[in-house]
Amino acid sequence: MKSFPYDAVVVGARCAGASTALLLAREGLRVLLVGRAPPGSDTLSTHALMRGGVLQLHRWGVLPGIAAVTPTVRLTTFHYADEAIAVPIQPRDGVDGLYAPRRTVLDVALVDAARAARAEVAFGAAVIDLVRDGRGRVAGVVLEGEDGTRSAVTARLVIGADGLHSRVASLAGARVERAGRHAAAVVYGHWSGLEVEGYHWHYRPGVSAGAIPTNDGRTCVFAAVPRGRFTEELRGGLQGLYARTLAEAAPEHAAAIRGARLDGKLRPFAGTPGFMRRPWGPGWALVGDAGCFRDPITAHGITDALRDAELLARAVVSGTDAALAEYQAARDDACAGIFALSDAVASFDWTLDRVKELHLELAREMAREVEMVRRLGPIAPKTRRPPSATRPAASATHQRLDPISSSPASAPPPARPGSR
Ligand SMILES: Cc1cc2nc3c(=O)[nH]c(=O)nc-3n(C[C@H](O)[C@H](O)[C@H](O)COP(=O)(O)OP(=O)(O)OC[C@H]3O[C@@H](n4cnc5c(N)ncnc54)[C@H](O)[C@@H]3O)c2cc1C
Repeated sequence: MKSFPYDAVVVGARCAGASTALLLAREGLRVLLVGRAPPGSDTLSTHALMRGGVLQLHRWGVLPGIAAVTPTVRLTTFHYADEAIAVPIQPRDGVDGLYAPRRTVLDVALVDAARAARAEVAFGAAVIDLVRDGRGRVAGVVLEGEDGTRSAVTARLVIGADGLHSRVASLAGARVERAGRHAAAVVYGHWSGLEVEGYHWHYRPGVSAGAIPTNDGRTCVFAAVPRGRFTEELRGGLQGLYARTLAEAAPEHAAAIRGARLDGKLRPFAGTPGFMRRPWGPGWALVGDAGCFRDPITAHGITDALRDAELLARAVVSGTDAALAEYQAARDDACAGIFALSDAVASFDWTLDRVKELHLELAREMAREVEMVRRLGPIAPKTRRPPSATRPAASATHQRLDPISSSPASAPPPARPGSR
């Protein structure tokens, strides 16, 4: 049997990748987590977590550090034109409320936890190719550093957590098995001097908006419109588009931002239809947006990523292709409903009564998701082994671009991800 310096190379060091690396490293697997973006950098996201996501952070012991610096959300208010429906967030399962940590907080906390679990972390390195063995099975990655140097790293499994435009997915040939039809475009900014109580989601025909309290006393305020309208009106300038659509969807927030200060710039997202890709194959797997991207209008991508990181980690620890097939089945089961509902909301082809119904269906799907997460026990209590026994030699981290057969030898790991 071929031995590898790593059990898994995880590509993409944000919520999906860092969580997966954290869970695998805690199980004693030898993990290299690779991120192209600098540590602590921001990314496009309005970063509101739903209960399933918060529950995951709590279960993994990562929540306290995040909750210490992020306001607790104890109320969600849905606004359908002038009707407001307030939904209190009940404390349950050790979760006091919801949180919307900036990605500079959430992703960092997860990477730190992965590091503490003894995952190796390499920032500033991009995966540009996959290594394959003589039978075509994925067996590692080719990395390019910021200075252009290239190196190959071999691993039993390559996990693509590299987001919406996943390089791993395209190099592995992961096919799209379900495609969304609609796309909402979003413009958002972070404001100081604008206080809101809890999450606010606003809907009026053809527009939507939201206000999300976050770190450092700031509030993320977004406006969303169909992609076609965004493209057309963007010609008149982003600021005008934001002010106009926000005034249409949520006049109270449009008025409030006049007395507030914008932190940095407005961030636009032009929208892209969702997709669900087959998330595994010989020697590779996908997690997070790389495997399933649903329209962000339902603010569920991070919660999906945190759920699926654990489903994937369980499969990887089991070490069989059958377990990876079960991962796909569980992911599809948890994701398909939310995917379809997100697509329907993103169509903007609804009346206020219809979008209310869609939200009720979404609430049922999310309750089902929380139940599923609640029932997850420890990943593999009987097979856990001390991480120190599994660390790769430091020199194995950046090998020269050599044929895979010359990869450094190390003790064969107990888990054999995707090996059958
Ligand atoms: C406008 C907008 C608003 C959103 N709002 C919300 C919200 O309110 N709530 C919510 O839950 N979700 C929201 N989402 C969705 C959420 O941001 C994503 O679902 C989430 O970021 C997915 O995390 P990820 O770790 O899979 O991927 P990403 O966060 O995209 O991270 C992927 C990482 O991989 C790295 N990478 C990419 N290619 C390579 C490579 N070749 N080599 C090495 N590294 C690479 C990237 O640099 C990046 O750091 C929103 C999305 C958008 C666009």
